[in-house]
Amino acid sequence: MNRNINWNFDNSYSRLPNAFKENIKPVSVKNPELLLLNEKLASDLNLNFENITKDELSEIFAGNVLPKGSNSIAQAYAGHQFGHFTMLGDGRATLLGEHLTNKKKRYDIQFKGSGKTSFSRNGDGRAALGPMLREYIISEAINYLNIPTTRGLAVVKTGEQVFREIPLPGAILTRVASSHIRVGTFQYIAAREHESELKIFFDYVINRHYPHLKDFENIALEFLKAVLDKQIDLVVNWMRVSFVHGVMNTDNMSISGETIDYGPCAFMDTYDPQTVFSSIDKMGRYAYCNQPIITKWNLARLAECLIPLIDTNQNKSIELATDIINSFEKKYEEKWMEMMRHKLGLSILDEKDKFLILDLLTWMHQHKADYTNTFCYLMNEKIQNDKIYTDYHFKIWKNRWQERLKKEKNIQEKSIELMKKNNPIVIPRNHKIEEVLKAAQEDNLKPYLRLLEILKKPYSSREGLRDYQTLSNSNEKYKTFCGT
Ligand code: AMP
Ligand code: MG
Repeated sequence: MNRNINWNFDNSYSRLPNAFKENIKPVSVKNPELLLLNEKLASDLNLNFENITKDELSEIFAGNVLPKGSNSIAQAYAGHQFGHFTMLGDGRATLLGEHLTNKKKRYDIQFKGSGKTSFSRNGDGRAALGPMLREYIISEAINYLNIPTTRGLAVVKTGEQVFREIPLPGAILTRVASSHIRVGTFQYIAAREHESELKIFFDYVINRHYPHLKDFENIALEFLKAVLDKQIDLVVNWMRVSFVHGVMNTDNMSISGETIDYGPCAFMDTYDPQTVFSSIDKMGRYAYCNQPIITKWNLARLAECLIPLIDTNQNKSIELATDIINSFEKKYEEKWMEMMRHKLGLSILDEKDKFLILDLLTWMHQHKADYTNTFCYLMNEKIQNDKIYTDYHFKIWKNRWQERLKKEKNIQEKSIELMKKNNPIVIPRNHKIEEVLKAAQEDNLKPYLRLLEILKKPYSSREGLRDYQTLSNSNEKYKTFCGT
């Protein structure tokens, strides 16, 4: 068998102390069939599929044949799930190792759904096809919306069934990430209370993700600041495109600032800050409007892990870390305001903009306006159901906005350009995602592939988008489930 697709593995994580991971191989599967291959991503990773058959690729992306040089592991981590601390770990994932590109960029290559590990608890270590296809398409959408994210490289059907409430086709997603190190990974190591392990792990993370911080006097403190900044950028971006992650447990927050672990996530359509899709999020902990608050909460959990590294005097350490965590609100507010201003084509700072923005959001909420389409309407994009914008109060607001636009310097082109960069014309509409996943599970991938192509150009106006911009006509509330 030809196994050479130009993998270039290194296994720096697997060289870390044994307590951080379990050495394990993916459990091979019966009858793998490659369904999706991300050719663009593969090419960016310098992979080469020229001399390889589809059957061989199926074996490779199912883990039946392991790449030369890989040293596969399951990573240990912990996490606060809905506020409760639990020891976790890769229960259905295997990290093959890190692939180095020609430019020596390092990426984790991970299989999700690859069989049991010592962290599986009561789970079967497997994944169903629907949720893996869902993660693949939504993470691609997030990527093309210019938001940091893990990516899908391939989806393989295993030819085996997984049993949830009913038997379902099994699948494995190959996931690419700048790493899978989570806030929860720090929590796992900190909970073991071996300071030497924490130091080894911290140095590893700095080398891998934040090498520019090495020259600072207090590296741990600078690290906390850097992660805080990255997470603020991430959550502001989610708010910009109306993404609701759905399960922002600390184990689902990446140290690198990438969106990770697409389970019950979905995009909000009609604007309601309390929007929750996840069937298990009964209290709305991870509602759209709570995402920044939860980001701060998760960062405070990270800060706790770093206390021994910040200062030998614990009280001083706590004080320094608290100051950084408390800088969250002001920084977030500034970044959020800037983002919202950009959505309205405003580049100059004006204190009164806050009222303009909040008044628009309040109007959207009161009139159940679609968040994405409202900004499309303001960009003069043709959308269906634009009657709502004949509303008297909306017109008054629009006049205020247009007056405000006049204060911008080279108005017209610049403002429109800014809006076009920040307001997607298409997002993955929930009913569309459901529709294409249903077809895919009935062996018709065409609608899925069509939607995937559409989502690759979220900011470009073109013919044939209507169907993808329209809301579902069902009155039923959209519900999502933790993707297992
Ligand atoms: P998630 O909800 O995907 O963030 O996963 C939470 C935890 O449950 C992680 O430790 C997963 O590895 C584990 N897990 C989820 N699904 C399964 C499964 N089918 N088998 C074993 N472990 C699982
Ligand atoms: Mg997770």
